[in-house]
Amino acid sequence: MSQHQDLVNRDRNVTFHASTHLRDFAHGDSPGRVITGGHGINIVDKDGREFIDGFAGLYCVNVGYGRTEIAEAIYQQALELSYYHTYVGHSNEPQIALSERILEHAGMGMSKVYYGMSGSDANETQLKLVRYYNNVLGRPQKKKVISRMRGYHGSGIASGSLTGLKAFHDHFDLPIDTIRHTEAPYYYHRAAEQHGMSEQEFSAFCADKLEAMILEEGPDTVAAFIGEPVLGTGGIVPPPEGYWAAIQAVLEKYDVLLIADEVVCGFGRTGSAFGSHHYGMQPDLITIAKGLTSAYQPLSGVIVGDRVWQVLEAGTGEYGPIGHGWTYSGHALGCAAGLANLAIIERENLVGNAADTGAYFQQRLKEQFDGHPLVGDVRGVGLMAALEFSPDAAQRLHFDPALKVGARVSAAALDDNLIARAMPQGDILGFAPPLTLSRAEADEIIHRTRRAVDRVTDELTRSGELAQGTPETAFAT
Ligand SMILES: *Cc1c(COP(=O)(O)O)cnc(C)c1O
Repeated sequence: MSQHQDLVNRDRNVTFHASTHLRDFAHGDSPGRVITGGHGINIVDKDGREFIDGFAGLYCVNVGYGRTEIAEAIYQQALELSYYHTYVGHSNEPQIALSERILEHAGMGMSKVYYGMSGSDANETQLKLVRYYNNVLGRPQKKKVISRMRGYHGSGIASGSLTGLKAFHDHFDLPIDTIRHTEAPYYYHRAAEQHGMSEQEFSAFCADKLEAMILEEGPDTVAAFIGEPVLGTGGIVPPPEGYWAAIQAVLEKYDVLLIADEVVCGFGRTGSAFGSHHYGMQPDLITIAKGLTSAYQPLSGVIVGDRVWQVLEAGTGEYGPIGHGWTYSGHALGCAAGLANLAIIERENLVGNAADTGAYFQQRLKEQFDGHPLVGDVRGVGLMAALEFSPDAAQRLHFDPALKVGARVSAAALDDNLIARAMPQGDILGFAPPLTLSRAEADEIIHRTRRAVDRVTDELTRSGELAQGTPETAFAT
């Protein structure tokens, strides 16, 4: 048995994995893989097989793999101090410097940073801050949070409730009862064009739906709205024109806080430092993780804007020290990794590269796949993009989910040593490569993707399944 196979077998006996068929994996009926290294946009497995990682791990390795500079920063910090808690005013130098850098990058009247280890825990912090805020303001009934169908905000009891994907709710009794989900800004999926709606009109339609929900729940019960500037795991969907302006007008009208979940968009992914900058959003609270350290260490953060900060200060004046905290908050190794990561992003102008090479990548995708018989929609912004498969784009038909078209294209790409992610809900192939991507690398990703899409198209044509589609269900969450 190969060393690799031996490792996978040991893994099956002792570990379980996210988004995995637990029984099949434990019993050897679904594949495993051990990743051992990476450089640039490539990763390597235990057999030495090399893949282009077109998804930067889980859209997190923004600076690419194998950056010894970050490893060195972590090592140097570990020699000095790996950890001391940050409760009751304790700090460490990398935490202080990193907070300064983050606030500089964010702008938008942001005031303070509080750290966690994951996007999920950061959103838990957000939910607690929102409750605290309204308790301080004497509005104890203003506690509900509106998220969106197809939003992704984590996998905990509360953060998983914010998530608007079926697989994260079913069999876990989620969502919890203070969380609601409104219309996703999914212009293509909603078949909006068929009904003659422009993007602007669809944005107004989404804002009207939000307003109707707020009125139905009672504005004095709705505390916050959370959204990713660009829907990520829900299908990589940039908002339709005018969306955020329309949404924000409603939030302002009913005194509802805006939480921008920038876990994917933050630190350059859209071609702007933050997705909020890209779309002219004015969030009250921002969630960051993934690109903050390019995942060289687990680190997340909550950025609190002035408006909320003033109230939190007043609250502790009234109630005493805030009863919230994580043992590892502001972990010195995470913050050291974050600083080294941001230094690379700045020095190599990776935000600019995400805009420039991103535009090139988007244009090449459109050239290759607009009008392709398997492809219904080609979309993206910066260095995040998706192909959505459809048997009939004009009518927005869907493949029978049992055909697993998205997963088959992803598997065909993997055969060709390209990782492109089959997104969890729908037949959607996602791309979010490291922000270091060159034009030649973009071309190679597109070349391999084309081969994979053509291969699955041939299979479906031969089996006669290409012609069969089902109509869009009205809400298609
Ligand atoms: C990944 C993600 C999260 C959750 O982060 P974890 O580190 O997996 O807990 C939250 N929000 C968004 C937008 C994400 O993409």
